[in-house]
Amino acid sequence: MTVRETLRANLFEVQERIAKAAERSGRASNSITLVAATKYVSQDVIHELIDLGWHDLGESRPQQLWDRAAQFDKRVRWHFIGHLQRNKVARTLPLVHLLHSVDSLRLLTAIDAEAAAQQLTPEILLEVNISGDAAKDGFPPDEVEAALTAAAGLKHMQVCGLMGMAGLDVEADVTRQQFRTLADLRERLERSTTGRHVMRELSMGMSGDFEIAIEEGATIVRVGSALFEGLET
Ligand SMILES: *Cc1c(COP(=O)(O)O)cnc(C)c1O
Repeated sequence: MTVRETLRANLFEVQERIAKAAERSGRASNSITLVAATKYVSQDVIHELIDLGWHDLGESRPQQLWDRAAQFDKRVRWHFIGHLQRNKVARTLPLVHLLHSVDSLRLLTAIDAEAAAQQLTPEILLEVNISGDAAKDGFPPDEVEAALTAAAGLKHMQVCGLMGMAGLDVEADVTRQQFRTLADLRERLERSTTGRHVMRELSMGMSGDFEIAIEEGATIVRVGSALFEGLET
């Protein structure tokens, strides 16, 4: 099979799995956004993906995002899903459709200041450390509400929801529990949040666990390896 055929088949299969999981959770499959995590693949593969009509792409390294955003179709909606250092905010902000991984108050404040300077209103998600793994980025779940309160005074961006990653190598029921914790947190904050910020989005689920994430309420899944299986990358 050619790259395009393989990609088309993988994309079809992932979309089928998304549709089935959405159905199980009583939602329409088009209410779930599939972000293709492109960090593993070459530019050629990304071109094919765009030609197949896929425009939501996620990068986890700033430099790679900058290079690729400069090169690709303006229709691409770039999602930034990795750790962002404050000194990289200025170059990254104007390129992204959604910043999934805001993991500290200092970063939140830096984004707001830079957005003001560049006259942008970026949409962001707060990353929550739901696995409890100390090496992972993200706000501890019990600090998210305070972050949102602090963000109330930041007028140049909009918090749109939460993002999280389940622990690696844990049983499916543990994964589900971690996703449920994030979904519950989103719901609780949605009720208590007033003002400009909303708690609409829930970005959770990767190749190994996106169906569980959708069953637990994900609105955005970030999928890499399942889409690129069988390709020379
Ligand atoms: C790479 C990456 C993904 C996709 O991972 P796969 O397991 O390959 O689907 C999702 N989210 C983040 C933050 C990533 O860095």
